[in-house]
Amino acid sequence: MKGFRGRIKAINDQVENHIKNEHLFYHKEIEEHHGQYVVIGRKKYINFTSYSYLGLLGHPRISMAAKDAIEKYGSGTHGVRILAGTTSLHVELEKRIAEFKNTETAVTFSSGYVANLTTISTMCGRGDAIFCDMINHASIVDGCLLSSAKFVRFKHNDMSDLRKKLEETEAIGRMIVVDAVFSMDGDIVPLPEIIELAKEFDCLVYVDEAHSTGVLGENGHGIMEHFGLTDGVDIQMGTLSKVIPAVGGYIAGNKEIINWLKYQSRAFVFSAALPPGATAAAKASFDVIDDEQRRVVKLRENIAYFIKSLNQAGFDTGNTETAVVPIILKDEWRTLEATRELFDKGIFVMPILQPAVPPNTSRLRANVTAEHTKEDIDYMVDTLANVWKQFGFND
Ligand code: PMP
Repeated sequence: MKGFRGRIKAINDQVENHIKNEHLFYHKEIEEHHGQYVVIGRKKYINFTSYSYLGLLGHPRISMAAKDAIEKYGSGTHGVRILAGTTSLHVELEKRIAEFKNTETAVTFSSGYVANLTTISTMCGRGDAIFCDMINHASIVDGCLLSSAKFVRFKHNDMSDLRKKLEETEAIGRMIVVDAVFSMDGDIVPLPEIIELAKEFDCLVYVDEAHSTGVLGENGHGIMEHFGLTDGVDIQMGTLSKVIPAVGGYIAGNKEIINWLKYQSRAFVFSAALPPGATAAAKASFDVIDDEQRRVVKLRENIAYFIKSLNQAGFDTGNTETAVVPIILKDEWRTLEATRELFDKGIFVMPILQPAVPPNTSRLRANVTAEHTKEDIDYMVDTLANVWKQFGFND
C-alpha cells in the first residue's frame, strides 16, 4: 500500500498516460444539450451517454414547473424536513411517486446514491444478512458495507446460488437487494423468482429501479409492471436523475417502512430537502410520462432496433433488453481506440473498463433514448462496424 503521495501520483500518472494516447474521454465539457445531441468544443455529437431515456431533459412543461417553483419558493432547499417542515411541493411529489409506483407512500432523498446508502444501512444491522447480486450498483454495495450486517453476494442473476446462500444463513433479519436493470449490462433481474425465494426464506425484497422506471412495463412504470406483479417487493428505490430530469432519489413502500426512514435514516434526519426546482420538475415528469406514452413506445422500438442492428453487424451486446446497451469489445486498448474514432466521427459514447466490469469484458456503454432517430442508430452502428473493419480488429 502506497502512502498518500504515492496514491495521488499513481492516479495522476494514469490520467497523463490516457492524455498522451488521446484516450481521455471522461469529464468532457458539455457546452449545450439539444435532444439527442450534445455540443462539445463547438462541435455537435450524437449523444449515446444520456440517462434521459425518454428524452424528458429540457421538456418545456417540466422546465416550466421548475421555474414556477423557484419563483414561489426560491432557488435553494428550505432546510432539513424533520426540523424545518415539509413544503407542499414535497408532499405532492411523494404522493405522485407512490401513485406511479403503486405503493402506500414514498420519501425522497438528495440523490439515488444517498437513498440506497441510507435506507440499507438504516434498515439492516448487526445480526442481519443482506443478499446482494454480485453486480449490483456501487451505492447498494456501500449501503451494505455501512450497515454492519452480514454482506452475502450471490452470482449475477443466479437463483440457485441465491437459494444456496439463503439456506446457509441463520441471520435474524434478511433482505434481498437487486437492481431491476443492471447498470453496466442492461439485463433484467428475474424478479418473480426472487419474490418466491424471499417468501420461502422470510426475506424483505429491495429493488433499485434506477434504469427501469420509464423503460420497463407497458406504461413505463417499471419492473413490477413488466412482470405483471402487484406485490412481493417491500422497497422500491428509484432515482430522480435519469428518466426523471431533476436530481434526487426516492424510496416507495408501505407507511411503516417510510416512517422508519423519515425518523431514523441519517440522510433524511441530518441532510437538507430536495430544492424546489428539482422537486417540482420531478413531479411534472411523472405526469408527462403518463400523458406522453408515445415516448415509452418509441423507446421500446429504438431499444429493439439498436440491439438488432448491432447484433447483425456482429457485435456482442450480452443479455441486454433495455436502454443500457453494452457493446462488448473485450480488449481495453481496442475499446479506447474505438471510442476515439467514434468521437472523431461525431459520436459521443463512453468506454467502460476494468474494474467497473470484469477483465476482458471492456465495452462501450451506449444508452439509447426515445429521441434517437433510425438514422442516428444506423450511423452509430455503421460507423462502429467500419472502424472495426478498418482496424482489422476481427483478425
Ligand atoms: N442505482 C443505480 C443502479 C444507478 O445506476 C445509479 C446511478 N448511476 C444510482 C443508483 C445512483 O443514482 P443517483 O445518480 O441519483 O445518485
